[in-house]
Amino acid sequence: MITDLTGVRDGLDVLHPAAGEPGENPTLDGLARSAPVLPGAASCEDLDRAFGKARDAGCAVIVHPDVDGIVGLVERSRFEAMMSGPYGYGRSLYGRRRLADIAQWDALTLPPSTDVVAASSRAITRDPHHVQDHVLVQGADGVCVVPMPVLLSALARALAGQALRDPLTGLANRHAFFGRVGESCRRSATQPGHRTAVVYFDLDGFKQVNDTLGHDRGDALLQEVAAALTEAARPSDLVARLGGDEFAVCLDLDTSPVAGRGVDVTAIAGRMHAAVAAISRADGVHQRVRISAGVAVSADGCIDPGELVRAADLAMYTGKRDGGDHVTGPVVVTTSADADPMMDTTVADAIARGEFRLLFQPIVQLADGRLGSVEALVRWQHPRLGFLTPDAFLPATARAGQLTELDDWVLHTSAQQFADWRRVVGGDAERVALNVNVSTDRLLTPGLLGVMEAAVAAAGLEPAIVRVEVPESLLVDQLAAAVGPLAELRAAGFKVTFDDVGAGGTSLRHLRDVRADGLKIDRSYVQGITGDDRDRAVVRLLVDFADSAGLAVTAEGVETEEQRQALLAMGCRYAQGWLFARPAPLTSLGTRFPAP
Ligand code: C2E
Ligand code: MG
Ligand code: MG
Repeated sequence: MITDLTGVRDGLDVLHPAAGEPGENPTLDGLARSAPVLPGAASCEDLDRAFGKARDAGCAVIVHPDVDGIVGLVERSRFEAMMSGPYGYGRSLYGRRRLADIAQWDALTLPPSTDVVAASSRAITRDPHHVQDHVLVQGADGVCVVPMPVLLSALARALAGQALRDPLTGLANRHAFFGRVGESCRRSATQPGHRTAVVYFDLDGFKQVNDTLGHDRGDALLQEVAAALTEAARPSDLVARLGGDEFAVCLDLDTSPVAGRGVDVTAIAGRMHAAVAAISRADGVHQRVRISAGVAVSADGCIDPGELVRAADLAMYTGKRDGGDHVTGPVVVTTSADADPMMDTTVADAIARGEFRLLFQPIVQLADGRLGSVEALVRWQHPRLGFLTPDAFLPATARAGQLTELDDWVLHTSAQQFADWRRVVGGDAERVALNVNVSTDRLLTPGLLGVMEAAVAAAGLEPAIVRVEVPESLLVDQLAAAVGPLAELRAAGFKVTFDDVGAGGTSLRHLRDVRADGLKIDRSYVQGITGDDRDRAVVRLLVDFADSAGLAVTAEGVETEEQRQALLAMGCRYAQGWLFARPAPLTSLGTRFPAP
């Protein structure tokens, strides 16, 4: 007689869904399956028949005949061995025995809410004599079972997942992310039309959230960002937190003709950016969340996954330098040998194709924010590598010996664009100056003065409003050679400004030995001014030196109001940085800044 005490379904062996994603630690509830349940008073023949009906059942649950709430276990394999042996007489020997006499009453019995890690640890730390093939799960509505292989494979998934998951956000961690990018790059190398894309994210000003609102709020924000990115990603994309406030997404792209135009990774990155920007910050700050993103996509061939991630990181960083809060890229990453921007072109060809662009960044008077000057900064819209900032192509251009040509183009073009802008804006714009960067190569190559004079003449500008920025490193490496060309420029009426002072190891003696009109304090010192006593001391020293030497002093890389206040208090006159404006086409500057 079979008494179905628990109302256990007859179909048996129903594997409950929700066995869990890797990395989650599901409970036994999600793994348990039903098994025949028989009273202890039933016989082995009863169980034999029950197993006959329940073909997939690996065990049976036996209810203790005398003690309420106690259940035991009969493993099917052992039961069948007993019933068929010895010498085929098992059934007649054991058929009438009570199940209570053969059940294992020491079976591990756990509540359904026990998690997989805890349950496995209970199961595998038992005395070897008491290890069974099933764990019993006893809940309010009956008893189910979990086979050990099912439990252990869930354990493996949970542990593997924990090793690959960021505990704060539940996203994939750095290790998992690089694994996935590697796998995807391998596919790109072997599968026509497949591309790997990486979008790298970094929150703007996250340190401030932590510092002013506390780490709990910081953690909560990271979780919200994780959720927003996941929501905006496609189900097949892997969203990861790489550490701190850095996130990254790996996307598999299909660019084969079959897939049509393919997926627009910039659109996806833009969607993710917008999702983060839409997070409402209920923290009284009333600012939307700002995040910078960089996109890199693999080209044909074998791409180093590390390089792809670095390229996305660099693109992100470039965007951050230009003010942040936007998506930069996509940068196309080719095999290492192809990464050289000068590999298949020359500066002259790129100029002819119109690939160089100029952005201009305001230099303002600290006291009243009036526009003192604009600095021309070059960019390259590279046909193969995407939109490049100077860090990405100036070294290669210098190695190719073509920096002079590029600088000459910048001198001519910036003078022209600047003159056009002045004409359109009119009035006080007459008093705004133009800063141009000139490389050491250009300065030491004969002919600079002629080029500059031709540039200002063609644009109809006076030399006195053009300030030539020369790298500070020039003074250290080439002091003697530079003195002549610099003096020539000044004699012709141009102004000379030392750029990035402090970054290249100049001493005050170098600055004293060369006549100039201005100096720009490197942003590494400016950015340390509010937190680091030594940075503050260097800035003060340079401001005082410039003051006594009659040099106009500009602080570079001013990003915060505190930095502006500190510089003002030290007597610094001019500043440049994101706090005022990021580099942009001159036409977009409009009349946002009143001229002096
Ligand atoms: P630089 O002359 O010191 O230009 C200032 C750099 O600081 C620019 O980088 C600008 O985007 C960045 N910047 C401005 N404000 C901030 C800020 O608040 N925070 C931060 N973190 N960064 C800020 P960019 O445009 O990438 O230029 C890098 C360097 O490349 C320039 O440094 C300059 O040395 C060189 N360069 C740029 N254009 C030319 C050019 O036409 N010819 C030559 N020879 N060199 C150039
Ligand atoms: Mg400069
Ligand atoms: Mg500079």
